Amino acid sequence: LFITIEGGEGAGKSSLIGQLANIIQEKGNRVVITREPGGIPIAEKIRTVILDPEHTTMDARTEALLYAASRRQHLVEKVIPALEAGEIVICDRFVDSSLAYQGHARGLGIEEVWQINQFAIGGTMPDLTIYMDVSPEVGLERIAQAPGREINRLDLERLSFHERVREGYHLVMQQFPERIRRVNAEETPERVLQAVVAIVEQRLS
Ligand code: C5P
Repeated sequence: LFITIEGGEGAGKSSLIGQLANIIQEKGNRVVITREPGGIPIAEKIRTVILDPEHTTMDARTEALLYAASRRQHLVEKVIPALEAGEIVICDRFVDSSLAYQGHARGLGIEEVWQINQFAIGGTMPDLTIYMDVSPEVGLERIAQAPGREINRLDLERLSFHERVREGYHLVMQQFPERIRRVNAEETPERVLQAVVAIVEQRLS
């Protein structure tokens, strides 16, 4: 089972994923947690290139292609082998991030970014996607409060960019209503976790 977790900045994906993995592991499942961009050495290197705050001249298509390249490598090296071994893979971000960020927020077009990603992923899609929906005001405020978080190039974007990201996710949700389940990530972490566990358990049974 391939589960992806999506959301804008400060949605709380990383802490949720750790707790979710523990809960489904305790029920006797084998779980692999991973993230995008990254998860394996080649893809982590691509991540540092994309997110370097000094790379202010990076072209939007270059960015989209780098995300797609890192996605491809991560998929063949890590995700597909784990799925074939019968493990549950929980991945922090996947193709929907590219559709929302590069496709909609950067203005490349959701359809165009979907095309290059189809080339990259070759048909492997998540069985279930949890979209953690948070308003940019709340999300960015949470990030500002989080000590020790690495600064990246996206932190230099304005609020309007993050609003477009959210709008992008809402459009992508309409395209994949069966696969993507929205949770209100402005609720307390406990309630968000509870909601996500219920969705995943339903899918597992
Ligand atoms: O989720 P995480 O914080 O690890 O993502 C790293 C950064 O990459 C974030 O600022 C996120 O907005 C950005 N990103 C992006 N386009 C993607 C995936 C991630 O701009 N397709």
